[in-house]
Amino acid sequence: MTSPWRATILTLYPEMFPGPLGLSLSGDALERGAWSLEARNIRDHGLGRHRAVDDTPAGGGAGMVLRCDVLAAAIDAAAAPDDPRPRLLMSPRGRPLTQQRVRSLSEGPGLIAVCGRFEGVDERVIAGRGLEEVSIGDYVLSGGEIAALVTIDACVRLLPGVMGKVASGVEESFEGPGLEYPHYTRPRDWEGRTIPDVLTGGNHDAIARWRAAEAARLTRERRPDLLARDRRPVATSADPTD
Ligand code: SAH
Repeated sequence: MTSPWRATILTLYPEMFPGPLGLSLSGDALERGAWSLEARNIRDHGLGRHRAVDDTPAGGGAGMVLRCDVLAAAIDAAAAPDDPRPRLLMSPRGRPLTQQRVRSLSEGPGLIAVCGRFEGVDERVIAGRGLEEVSIGDYVLSGGEIAALVTIDACVRLLPGVMGKVASGVEESFEGPGLEYPHYTRPRDWEGRTIPDVLTGGNHDAIARWRAAEAARLTRERRPDLLARDRRPVATSADPTD
């Protein structure tokens, strides 16, 4: 058996983990040992009696900045230089996380996620420790922890055996060229709204055609950018430079 997928999180708030990842499918898989999670406190590497982790920004301005020496010590203690896992820095400046990157992360040995706080981290540690900046969207969170939870959740559900039906991982939004088709279940008539006849008619070809058409319509209406993106050559996640 290959070793389980491993997540290491560097944070000032290790008590935020596993948090929601300890419940439901990811929690069951964690308990079974299908993946593992270690949350390490950056403050263990803080300086002085007060274990300081941050300092004022060079050049002035509001807020505090996480020190590069403290973060580097935390990273070095968490991962040997030959640790093959990608080192992510959760950051609104990062490359936006995609299902494609999630899939490639889930197929690898795991990940190390550094969670920023305050105004962010000293720029030098990014190059100094080979951190890949990852954003979960164009908005600003108060810390990287929720972004790390989002990233790990998306990866863990793709690990073999974590989701009940393997197919549910490949027929969804963003796995194909666009968004997923709409779902319905009982009751057939709810407040005068009925399930489309084709879905209850038993004709599987017709159902597949209807779903494909609905998926295409929703994608055109809501996310035409996905269609445009899909016509370009697909960048591999191993190449964060494109
Ligand atoms: N001053 C920074 C924001 C700092 S927010 C700026 O304007 O770019 C504090 C921390 O929250 C960041 O260091 C990062 O780790 C995390 N964070 C905030 N928004 C995020 C996002 N959209 N994706 C990933 N991490 C985010």
